[in-house]
Amino acid sequence: MTPLFGKKTEPDWFLPEDVRKQLKETFADLKNPVALELFAKAGVNDEFSDYTAKFATDLSRLTDKITFARHELSSDRAKELGVTASPTLCVNPDKCHVRFLGAPLGEEGKSFITAIFLASLATSGLSETSLSILEPLEEERLVQVFVSPTCPYCPGQVMHAVKCALARPKLVRAECVEMSENPELAERYNVGSVPHTVINEGAHTGLGLMPEERFVAEMVHLASAEELKKEGALPDFLDGKTGAGYGSIEPGEVDLVIVGAGPAGLTAGIYAVRAGLKAVILEKSIVGGQVALTPVVENYPGFASVPGKQLMDIMSEHARQYIPVHEGEEVEGIERGESLTVTTSRGVYTAKTVILTTGAAYRQLGAPGEDVYFGRGVNYCASCDGYLYKGKKVAVIGGGNTALTDALHLKHLGVEVTIIHRRDEFRAQVPLRESVEREGIPIIWNTVVEEIMGDGKRATGLRLRNVRDDATSELAVDGAFVAIGQVAATELAKSLGTDLNESGFVAVDSAMRTSVPGVYAAGDLVGGLQQIVTAIGEGSVAAMSAFEDISHPRWKKAPTPANGSNTENA
Ligand code: NAP
Repeated sequence: MTPLFGKKTEPDWFLPEDVRKQLKETFADLKNPVALELFAKAGVNDEFSDYTAKFATDLSRLTDKITFARHELSSDRAKELGVTASPTLCVNPDKCHVRFLGAPLGEEGKSFITAIFLASLATSGLSETSLSILEPLEEERLVQVFVSPTCPYCPGQVMHAVKCALARPKLVRAECVEMSENPELAERYNVGSVPHTVINEGAHTGLGLMPEERFVAEMVHLASAEELKKEGALPDFLDGKTGAGYGSIEPGEVDLVIVGAGPAGLTAGIYAVRAGLKAVILEKSIVGGQVALTPVVENYPGFASVPGKQLMDIMSEHARQYIPVHEGEEVEGIERGESLTVTTSRGVYTAKTVILTTGAAYRQLGAPGEDVYFGRGVNYCASCDGYLYKGKKVAVIGGGNTALTDALHLKHLGVEVTIIHRRDEFRAQVPLRESVEREGIPIIWNTVVEEIMGDGKRATGLRLRNVRDDATSELAVDGAFVAIGQVAATELAKSLGTDLNESGFVAVDSAMRTSVPGVYAAGDLVGGLQQIVTAIGEGSVAAMSAFEDISHPRWKKAPTPANGSNTENA
C-alpha cells in the first residue's frame, strides 16, 4: 500500500476549515477502524481521482480511526479485489463490498461519510422491518446505484444499498456509480435519470428513490413492489395491511403524526414540540419536498438567492433539534377510530391528531411516449438530472416559475435549452422572465407537445403543434424536462374522507382543520399560493390548532358532518 499525500504534519488541507471542524466533532463517535482504499489509473478521470484522494487523505488526518491508501488500478491489490474502474474508492474492502465508482462529490459526500460511520459502528442502520425482509436472502446481489452530484434523491438510494451490504456482507455488494465518470457503464444500462438502480447486472432495475423497506423487498425478490403485490408475494407490512411483521417502533403512541417533511411539515414539527406535543414527522422520500429539488430560491426572506436543497437542509437541521424526522418511512394508511391509527412501512402509530403535508407530485403531460421514455430522456427534476445533459440539447416544457428556474439552471450547467410554452406569455415571476431573456434562451410560444418520439431506447425528439394555426413540427432533442405544475398528493387525505375543494386540493378552514376531526392539512396539499413562506405559515397554524384541539377536544363534544368549509367540524 502506498500512503498518499499523507503525512499528518502537512499544514495544507483540502477540506475547508468549518467542514473539518464539523467532521472532527462527528468522528469523535467512531468506534472501529475504517480502511479507505482508492484505486486509480493515470489518464482516466484524473481530476476526480485527485479530488477523492485529497478528500480521503483529509479524513484520515482528522481521526486515527480512518486509514487511507492509494493503489494503481493495475496493482495486485486491485486484481485481488476485482476493481476495474478509475477512480474506485472502497470502504473496508476486506470486510464488505461498499464502493464508490467515481468521486463522492456533492450530495454523495454525505453517503460516503455515512457509510464510513456505519462501517465503524459495525451496524447496518436498517430498520427491523428491512432486516426481516433481508433475512431470507440466500443468493448474491450486486446493487449499482447510478448517481449525479446534484441529485438530492441519490444519497438515500445509495444508503439503502450500502446498509444491505453492511447487513449481509457475504451476499450483497453495493456500488455507487457516478454516471458521468463511468459513461460506458451508464450507457450499458441506458441510464437517463438518477438515481437509477441496477441489480445483478440488469436482472432488476429501479428508477428513483424508494422507501427503504420497498428497496430491500425489490432487491431480495428481483421484482418491483407492484409485481410482488400482484403475485401476492409482497410481505404484509408492505401491502398496507396492519398486523404481523412489524419490528419495534418508536414511538407507538403520540399526540401528533406529521406526514411529509417539506417546509410545512418541518415547521409544524417545530411548533408542535415547542407547544409540548409528543410528535413525529414521517417522510417516505427526502426531507425538503419540492423545494429540495429547486435549483435556486430567490423569494425566501433573508436569503437573496439560495439553492433549494441548502435552504431545506438548514430548515431540517433546525426541525431535528425538536422532533424526530423519519426519512424513508412511508405512511400506507390512516384509519379513523377512537384515535387515528397510522400504518407505515415500519409500524403502527396511534395518534390523537395528524397533520397532512404530503405536498404535490409532478403533473404529467399525458403525451404518447412520456411514460415509455421516462428516465430515458423524459425528466421532471432538473436538479437531479440536468447534469446528465451537459453539452446536449433539451426542451423545458412549461411557463411557470419551475419551468423558467429549471431552464436557467440547465443553461448554467452548459445544456443547450429551449423553452416550449402553450401560450404567448409566461406566468412565471418577472425576475425569472427577465433572466431568461438576458440569457437568450430560445422560446417556442403557443406550442404544445403532442408526442415524445424515440428510437425505442431513448427519447430523440418532440412532435409539436402550434395551437394558433395547428401547424405541426418536430424538434430533435436529447431530453425533455416537463415542468407543467403539480398535482396535489391527496390519496391519504381522500382515504380519510376529508373534503376536497373545487380545484382538487384538501379543503381546510383558516385554522388548517380539514373536515375530519383531528386531521389538519398544510402546504401544497391545500393549494393557494403554494410558496415556501405560505407553507411555513400554514404548518405553524396547523400545529397550533392540533395543540389547541388536544387541549380542548371540541370534536369529542360536538362532531358535525363534513361540509367542505369545515369551520365547525372540530
Ligand atoms: P405552475 O405555476 O402551475 O405553472 C405550470 C405551467 O405549466 C404554466 O405555465 C402552465 O401554462 C403550464 N401547463 C400546465 N399544464 C400544461 C399542459 N398540460 N401542457 C403544457 N403546459 C402546461 O407550476 P410551477 O411552475 O411548477 O409552480 C408551482 C408552484 O410553485 C407555483 O405556486 C410557483 O409559484 C411555485 N414555485 C415557486 C418557485 C420560486 O418562487 N422560486 C419556484 C418554483 C415553483 P399556463 O400558464 O398556460 O397555465
